[in-house]
Amino acid sequence: MATVLIIGAGGVGGVVTHKCVLNKETFTKIVLASRRLESCEKIQKQLPEGAIEIAQVDADNVDETAALIEKVGADIVINVALPYQDLTIMDACRKTKVDYLDTANYEHPDEAKFEYKLQWQKDEQFKEAGIMGLLGSGFDPGATNVFCAYAQKHYFDEIHTIDILDCNAGDHGYPFATNFNPEINLREVSAKGRYWENGEWIETEPMEIKMVWDYPEVGPKDSYLLYHEEMESLVKHIKGLKRIRFFMTFGESYLMHMRALENVGMLGIEPVEHKGQKIIPIEFLKTLLPDPASLGPRTKGKTNIGIVAEGLKDGQKKKIYIYQVSDHEKCFAEVQSQAVSYTTGVPAMIGAKLMLEGKWQGKGVFNMEQLDPDPFMNEMNKQGLPWKVIELD
Ligand code: NDP
Repeated sequence: MATVLIIGAGGVGGVVTHKCVLNKETFTKIVLASRRLESCEKIQKQLPEGAIEIAQVDADNVDETAALIEKVGADIVINVALPYQDLTIMDACRKTKVDYLDTANYEHPDEAKFEYKLQWQKDEQFKEAGIMGLLGSGFDPGATNVFCAYAQKHYFDEIHTIDILDCNAGDHGYPFATNFNPEINLREVSAKGRYWENGEWIETEPMEIKMVWDYPEVGPKDSYLLYHEEMESLVKHIKGLKRIRFFMTFGESYLMHMRALENVGMLGIEPVEHKGQKIIPIEFLKTLLPDPASLGPRTKGKTNIGIVAEGLKDGQKKKIYIYQVSDHEKCFAEVQSQAVSYTTGVPAMIGAKLMLEGKWQGKGVFNMEQLDPDPFMNEMNKQGLPWKVIELD
C-alpha cells in the first residue's frame, strides 16, 4: 500500500499519472496536484472513474506543499512541475519526511543556468530526515545515466569517453513548436554549449559543434553539442572518464526559427516595457506557441536516445551503443501523449516504483547512476521503453 503525490499536471505529469494507474499494485493511491485544478481535471477525465484524486497546490510555497503531502498521506512525491519548484518541493519533503523524486535539476527563473549544487546541498538534511531524494529520473537525465551505470557494471573496467545522443525525429506539422515546456526548452538550446574533457569544462558557442549520427530506426541526423545536466553528475561517478559530450538533433527549420527569435530578442528573460506594462519576452513567446500537450495527436515519427561508451575491458578496447527507440503515435495511443513526455514520464514512474518496492533505497540525495542499474533496465523493458545494446567497432 503506497500513496504517491504527483505534482505538475503538464505533459510529463499526464504520462506519470497514466503509468502509475497502470501499476496499481505499487501505487495504491494516486493524487495529482497542480497550480491549476483544471490541468488535473483534464488528465483525470482520460482515466477510469475513481482512478486518481486531484488537488490544487502552489508548489512555490513550502508550507502549502507540506500541508498537502500530510493531508494525502504521501509515501513519495514525484515532482514533474517545473525546475523552478525543485527546491521548495524538496523542502516540503524534508519537513514532512517523505521521499522525493524529480526529472530536471533546479533552475532559477531569473537566470538561465541549471546545476545540481543547491539540490546536492540538501543531502545532509535528507540524511537527517531519513529520506531519499532521487534527482533526474526522466530520460535525459534519467535513463541515460542508468545506461552509463549499466555499461560500467556489465561492459567495462574503465569508461574513457561517453557521448549522449538525443534524437527526436518527430514531425508535428507546425512550422515551429517545442516538445516540452517552451521556456525550459528554448533556454536550454540557446545557451552556450559545454563539454567535459580531462577534468575541465570546455565552453562552445551555441550550436558550434555539429556531427551527423546515424540513429538506428531513424537514419542520419544533424546533431549539435549542447550542455546537458546529467554530465555534471556523471563526471563524478563514472570511473576513468576522460571526456563526456551531449548531442541533440535539430532540423534546419527549428534552428532558423530559433535564431530569428533570438535575434529579435524574443528569447530574453529580462522584463521589457511594452505599452506601460512589463513583459518577459520568452514568457510571451510561450503564450503564442502551441501547447506541447497539444502536439500529441499530431506527431508522427520516432525518438532515439542513447549513449555511446568507449573504454577498456580486460585490457582490450571496447565501444558500445545503448539506445531506446520510441514511436510518437504508439505513445499517444497508450497514454495520450507524444514520445518526449512519454520517455520522461515512464522513467519517473519507474524510479518511484523501485523506491517504494525497496529496490532502490538510501538516505540522502542521489543521482540515477549511483544506484544499481539492473532493476531499472528490467522495468524499462516491461513498462514500454525497450532498449538495445550493440557493440561498435
Ligand atoms: P509542462 O509545462 O507541460 O508542465 C508543467 C506543469 O507544472 C504545469 O502543468 C504547471 O501547472 C505545473 N506547475 C508550474 N508551476 C507550478 C507551481 N508553482 N505549483 C504547482 N504546479 C506548477 O512541462 P512538462 O510536463 O513538459 O515538463 C515537466 C518537467 O519535466 C519539467 O521540469 C521539465 O524540465 C522536465 N523534463 C525532463 C526531461 C528529462 O528527460 N529528464 C525531458 C522533458 C521534460 P498548471 O498547468 O496547473 O498551471
